[in-house]
Amino acid sequence: MSELREAWRELLARRRALATSLAPYDEMLERWAAWTPPRRSLGWSAQRCRESWTRGVPLTVEAPPPLDADNLENLLGGAMEDVAAVAPARGPALQRLAGAWDAGAIGPGALLPRREGIGDGAVEAASGLDAEAVAFLAYATLRPVLQAWLSPARPHFAEVDWGRGVCPFCGGPPGFVDVIEGGHRRLACHFCGGAWGFAKLRCPLCGVEGTKDMVRLQAEGEDAGYVVSGCRACGAYLKELDRRERWNGGPPLLEDWASPHLDVVARREGLRKPLPALLDLTQAG
Ligand SMILES: [Zn+2]
Ligand SMILES: [Zn+2]
Repeated sequence: MSELREAWRELLARRRALATSLAPYDEMLERWAAWTPPRRSLGWSAQRCRESWTRGVPLTVEAPPPLDADNLENLLGGAMEDVAAVAPARGPALQRLAGAWDAGAIGPGALLPRREGIGDGAVEAASGLDAEAVAFLAYATLRPVLQAWLSPARPHFAEVDWGRGVCPFCGGPPGFVDVIEGGHRRLACHFCGGAWGFAKLRCPLCGVEGTKDMVRLQAEGEDAGYVVSGCRACGAYLKELDRRERWNGGPPLLEDWASPHLDVVARREGLRKPLPALLDLTQAG
């Protein structure tokens, strides 16, 4: 995870005007880097992985990572403090979550992406937290875990025709879009760091085809290359970066974090991001 820290420093140099508001992400990256992964990671062969992908099933559905509550406590606790700091109104709900976690009523498995969305609803039920906050806490806690668990499976994905709007590795929703050579779209997963190709004229969130429901808000000036790409059919949006236009872009997760001003523009249009960043939580809840 230390590569992310390095890339973040470079990105901040480009986003000096936002440095103060982006500061909480420094600590998040420090926590991720400080977490020690267990020795075990996913041992599936290329054939076994492809067998899952052929059925449209993300790998962690049938091969979840081993999750140990004690081992993840710092990651979750730190993320909860971050949420409390940017959105104090959620304090009482966060307290209830802490209580449920300490009592063992909620475990890390409740935060994994699932077919119906993020988590199994247990966190919301136990704490009264909104789905946005839970989604953020889920990936802020699980990213280093899922990234380490899934890293041996990455090379097996080459040439696989996936076609779904969720991550083939962990089932998470897309967090950011890279436009690459040939104008192809590549979706990025904030939960595990995975990436996969996706059709250009289809909404990855609801599957609607064509340009009729598409909203594209193109940034200009020093933000040339960034686009807010939304869908009127489902009301969701993702930010997009044209990598052909901008060669000094950072990893998709960090590009998402470092452009909160574009989220403001998207929200003004009534659009919602499927996986909120920390600063998105200052608005909702
Ligand atoms: Zn993923
Ligand atoms: Zn849609």
